[in-house]
This record gives sequence, C-alpha cells and structure tokens, in this order.
Amino acid sequence: MLKFSHIDSIEKLHQGYLSKDFTVREIIDDYLAHIAAVNPEMNAYLEIFDDIDDLVNRAEQMIASGDIHPLTGVPVAIKDNMLYKGKISSASSRMLEHHRATYNADVVDNLLTQGAIIIGRTNMDEFAMGSSTETSAFGITKNPRDMTRVPGGSSGGAAAALAMDGALISLGSDTGGSIRQPASFCGLVGLKPTYGSLSRSGLMAMASSLDIIGPLTKNVDDAERSFYALARHDENDSTSIPQSMRDAVTSRIPKKIGVPRSFLAQDGISEDVRLDFEKSLKLLEQAGYELVDIDMPLLEHALAIYYILMPAEVSSNLARFDGVRYGLRVEQDTLIDTYKESRTQGFGPEVQRRILLGTYVLSHGYYDAFYNKAMYLRGALEQAFKTLFADIDAFVTPTTPTGAFRFGEKRDNPLEMYMSDIFTVPANIAGVPALSVPSGQDSNGMPLGLHITAGYLQESVLFAIGKDFERMRDAQA
Ligand code: GLN
Repeated sequence: MLKFSHIDSIEKLHQGYLSKDFTVREIIDDYLAHIAAVNPEMNAYLEIFDDIDDLVNRAEQMIASGDIHPLTGVPVAIKDNMLYKGKISSASSRMLEHHRATYNADVVDNLLTQGAIIIGRTNMDEFAMGSSTETSAFGITKNPRDMTRVPGGSSGGAAAALAMDGALISLGSDTGGSIRQPASFCGLVGLKPTYGSLSRSGLMAMASSLDIIGPLTKNVDDAERSFYALARHDENDSTSIPQSMRDAVTSRIPKKIGVPRSFLAQDGISEDVRLDFEKSLKLLEQAGYELVDIDMPLLEHALAIYYILMPAEVSSNLARFDGVRYGLRVEQDTLIDTYKESRTQGFGPEVQRRILLGTYVLSHGYYDAFYNKAMYLRGALEQAFKTLFADIDAFVTPTTPTGAFRFGEKRDNPLEMYMSDIFTVPANIAGVPALSVPSGQDSNGMPLGLHITAGYLQESVLFAIGKDFERMRDAQA
C-alpha cells in the first residue's frame, strides 16, 4: 500500500506540497516503491522511465519558487501510443517494439512544461484496438479489483496503473470508448473530451476522425483539472479547435437529463447493469435533475457506423507501417515480399482483421454500400445530437453492458467484444464529450459506471453532473 494513500486527489497533493507536509520526492519515491512491488504481477506499466529524478528536481524547484501549474508534481502515467522524445512508444505492437519517438506529443510537452512527473508508459490493446488489453503484444494486464478479470481496453494499462495506485492520473486515448470502458471496469472516472479539444499531435493514429486523448482519474474534480490543464489549440493538429471557438462557449448550468429508454431495452445488457442504472437515475433525481425520456433511434446504429468508419481509417493510417519507413522490417528478396512479411509478423490478428475490414469497405464497389452510407448516418447522428442538446443538457446510459469479464471470455468472439462499445461509440461519432463515473457494482463485485454525454464543448456540464452524482452516491454509501 502507498504510504501516502490518503493523498488521493490533485487538490490534496498540491495542498500538501504548499504546506510542506511532504515533498515531491517523498511522494514519487512512495509511488515508485509501490509500483516495483505490484507492477510485475499487474503489468500495467510496460516501462518506468529512467529520468524521473530530473522531473522531480524540476518540480521541486518550481514549487519552491511559486511557479505552480495545475499538474505540477502530479505523478502521471501515459499510454504507450503517446510520443515522448527519445523514449520507446510501441502502441503495444511488435511492429514498433523498438521504435523511439523523435518528438514529443503536445500533451507530453504540456505535462513537462507544467512540471508533471511522467512515471512511465502503460500497456494497451495493440494500436488501441480492443476492449480488454488482451491484444497487446506484451502480455495481459490484470484488473487490480480482481486479477482473474480484464481491466478493459484499449487503455487497460492506464486504468490498472491508476487503480493499483501507480499514478494519480493516467492519460488514455479514446476512439470508441477506450478511456471510459476501462475506467468503468476499474472503478475510475474517465473523460473523453470533445473531438479536437486536446491535440492529437504525437498520438499514434488509429481512426483520426474519432481519436482523442483524455484523462482517467480517481474523482471528477481531478478529471476537470486535468482537462483544463491539457486542452489547448495546437497548430500541429489540423483538427484542433481554434481558441476563438473555445472562448465563445457559454457554459450552462445543467438541469435536464435525457434517458434513451428504447436504446436501453436491447439485448446483451446485464441485469446487474440495468439495476445499477436505475439506482443511478434515482440519485440524479434526488440531486434535483429533471429526467426526460428521449427517443433516439440512431443510437442503435452507432456501433455499426463505428465498425465501418473506424476500420476504414485504420486501414489507411496503418499503411505507413510497411517495413520501410517505420518499425519492424523483415527483409525479403523483393520489396512486395518485404512489405508482406513485415506486416504479417509485425501486426497481431485483431489489427490485421481491422485492416482487412477497412480495405474491404473502402474498395471499389463497396465504398458506396458501406463507407458512404456510414458517413451519411454519421452526419445524421451529429445533426440529431445538435437538436437534442438544444433541448436537454446531457443524456445518460450505463458505460458498459456488463462489468469486467474474465480473461479469454471474449477473446475469440470479436463481435461480442465489439458489443462492449455500444454505449460509448456515439460520442466519438458525433465528436461530443462524455464522462464515465463509478456508480456501483455488479454481482461479482466488479465496478460499473454511469455514462454522461453532453453537447459539443460542454465539458463543464459533465463535470457539474458528475460531481453531483459523486456526492449523492457517496452520501448513500
Ligand atoms: N473498444 C473499441 C475498439 O476496439 C475502442 C477502441 C478505442 O477507443 N481505441 O475499437
């Protein structure tokens, strides 16, 4: 156990630094000793960085001179798909096992400028494709709440690192649910910010029109602090939201929350999840929110839209890994054979499956039938969300259809694995922000989450509802 386990929020950490209750070094030494004890079993971190000392010294100096930023001295874990100059970032793939970053991701730059302590890189599903971290080329990661179960994915290492007390915040990436689903499986808060609010520069691309970086934290306040500390315009990301648009957002005080009843009526949602969700609705009502039924038939198509658009983008983004420009090269007699062998040996089965699916939906003759149709529906969903959020402030669902499952349970059944994303993908498709907050437990004692979706750039609505929900939940416990 951490000696400083009671310092479980950024606010407490900063208060302690300022009143000299402890130093950055004491905190980080505590974390590192704990990680050394638990990580070999958990495999949340693939690597603990060797220059943490320098960061600690720098943070100590910053605090001593009063130069304190929202993440100064905060122990942070980063996912293995974020570039940190000079260090390996492998996307947990054989393809990039020895790949060293040549520049910093914008979020990494930002963390370093603020004096955050970047502890190490965390395990993930290969190239962020999966919901259990079982597709990593570097072994499974265990769920700290029950070591026979998966931590979720693809940011499973990020979630486990936090849940095992190996960091105070973790950065994950979310293309279809990869921050929120593992957060829910490990009893944490997970935020998928508005598309374009944090820079994608230096985040390895999975599906560029859906990808976003965001924090996993132990409470909503830390998610809020991390979001505002890391969201900024970046000219190295052509889809980054301009500052003027951010400034123009008027934050509203949320009152009205939608419940998409018919979407929740479908098969595959466990009874435990349904019960927990009904309890969550009561808490929201007790907190003073008005709950209204909403009818959104398009939500039922979101998973299908996602599993066409995402592989299409994957197939083109991953074309760069050809044995010539990056990563693994398996030299053969001809160039074509070198491409083939490098990609065959470099990519695992799930990545290969998605490249094939994506190539198929983009191919002549199928483009209109699949890709264009999905794009049309994506536009329709965006439009429907705009109309919806003119009338209500947010809508809620469970985060996942079940609690954390056992290793191997879904590994050989991709369709069942893809079902994990049913509640989380709509926010990625529409580019709007969504938050998962721990709500309760299933009958195995595994954590469940409440999933809140708000309108474009309305993160403040998520934080307000999330905090109210946390308060009601804790008062009841
Ligand atoms: N589980 C989803 C998938 O496998 C989400 C992945 C992600 O968000 N990176 O595609």
